[in-house]
Amino acid sequence: MTFAGATCIACRGRLKFFGNREGYDYHLCPGCGTLQLFPMPDESELSALYKSSYSDVSHYDQDPVTCIHSARPYYEAIRDVLIKYNISGPVLDCGSGWGGLCSLLTGSGFECRGVEPSARMADYCFSRGLPVLHGGIDVFNEDRFSAIVLCTVFEHLTNHYDWLKRARSLLSPGGVLVSLQPTARFAVTMGRIARLGRKVSPLPRIHQVFCPPWHTAFFSIEGMKSIADLSGFKLIEVRPAPQGRSDGAVGMMQWILERINNVGQLISGPLWPLIVAHTFVFKKNRF
Ligand SMILES: [Zn+2]
Repeated sequence: MTFAGATCIACRGRLKFFGNREGYDYHLCPGCGTLQLFPMPDESELSALYKSSYSDVSHYDQDPVTCIHSARPYYEAIRDVLIKYNISGPVLDCGSGWGGLCSLLTGSGFECRGVEPSARMADYCFSRGLPVLHGGIDVFNEDRFSAIVLCTVFEHLTNHYDWLKRARSLLSPGGVLVSLQPTARFAVTMGRIARLGRKVSPLPRIHQVFCPPWHTAFFSIEGMKSIADLSGFKLIEVRPAPQGRSDGAVGMMQWILERINNVGQLISGPLWPLIVAHTFVFKKNRF
């Protein structure tokens, strides 16, 4: 089924219905492989939900210690990118959550500040002495950063181009944007397998993958390249992201999947379909 007016936010291709979950429709772009909500939720509506209830819903772990522990491999992966690109100036952590990434980067010698739209989470960061402000990227105007980092945040945005325009304006010349985020191929593969190809069946949650309205888009690697090109950036590197480190059965699945992926990547490279997330490095173009 193709919907009139439904165009891919990454490549402007025509979208096709993929599946529904909890009243929200995900559509797939046959051109670039990006999976996205259509219609895209209203930004002001989502913004109000983040401010009021995001930290209380099951999408995000409500216990800061558990959350930070399980996400530590992600934080380390982002830190390793900053080290590789010799980032020595200020770093902005957008969507700091409970402050795990900001804390790790600070402890690793980076000058890191953060913003977090959930008041409860921002208050928690502040109580721990982290320089995290309540709000979004528009909190900053005059500041300049050598890097902006996002840990599982880009898939939550609703107006990607406006956000990237703002991010670009905050970066110093040659600055980098580093985003670790779940990507399309895994979501599409699991969404098909779990429903045995039946589009009329509801999409499965698959741990934290299909979580509308929070997860608005799972970009493909090609989609991220398009969106970078259209936003004054160049996609300079894509890395498979590590698995998280949850406890219990989820943690066991993550451990098994990581080992399967280690073999799969040797065969297929970054397009191996069971890689849940990738880390993208955008470099700001001069003009
Ligand atoms: Zn597309």
